[in-house]
Amino acid sequence: MLMSNFIYVIDGVKYIDKKKFYNSIIWKHKRACILKRDGNMCQHCKWYGKRTDADTVHHIKHLEDFPELGLEDSNLISLCNSCHNKEHPEKRRKKILITLVSGYPGSGKTTYVLEHKKYNDVMLDLDILYKALTNNNMYEEHKEKNIVEYINDLMRATIYKAKEYKFDVWFIRCMPNDIEVEILKENNARCIQMNVDRIECKKRLIKDKRLTKDFEFICNKIDEERKRVWNNTPPSFNF
Ligand SMILES: [Zn+2]
Ligand SMILES: [Zn+2]
Repeated sequence: MLMSNFIYVIDGVKYIDKKKFYNSIIWKHKRACILKRDGNMCQHCKWYGKRTDADTVHHIKHLEDFPELGLEDSNLISLCNSCHNKEHPEKRRKKILITLVSGYPGSGKTTYVLEHKKYNDVMLDLDILYKALTNNNMYEEHKEKNIVEYINDLMRATIYKAKEYKFDVWFIRCMPNDIEVEILKENNARCIQMNVDRIECKKRLIKDKRLTKDFEFICNKIDEERKRVWNNTPPSFNF
């Protein structure tokens, strides 16, 4: 049997080498025959009285589950992309949510994330990360080129893994720099700005014994950056 060229067995379970199968001459020939048989029309659309060009030849009983039916005429049907996607709900990707929470020190960024994150979500506090990497004040401007790149790479890697394993990500940063903003935009992140005024932030920091002498300086810097990058209102990229 021809299909046996593409099937291998591990512990009695049949698997198909899909790449080898879809690249094979025999499949390409079969595919062309099925398209011809179906008049190059999507057969689902045709059923509903619409004429749509077929884009793909679909295995009615899915190839992974029934590899031995891979070349069976009765198991093959021409479909358009839109109808084909409906036949493969497993391919429909869950959209992951990436969120940046920004604001003054003491504005409650971490508390906000902890109140809203789900169990499997990842939170990455870029200010704390900077402190961990340099032992500098965590709200200081990130100047060291290698550290900046490291943090950018880690953001990208986190997003990459989030997409692969389908978890949501929360970044915390008092005010992201230009490259960080770019990474967030590229990935359709939404942006939440904690709108707590300075006096309240200061009170909270004093209460938590976290107030540093450069608090005002940091807040001024954040204001400047907010104005420069976002004209004071961060875009809600997603909403
Ligand atoms: Zn269709
Ligand atoms: Zn299919």
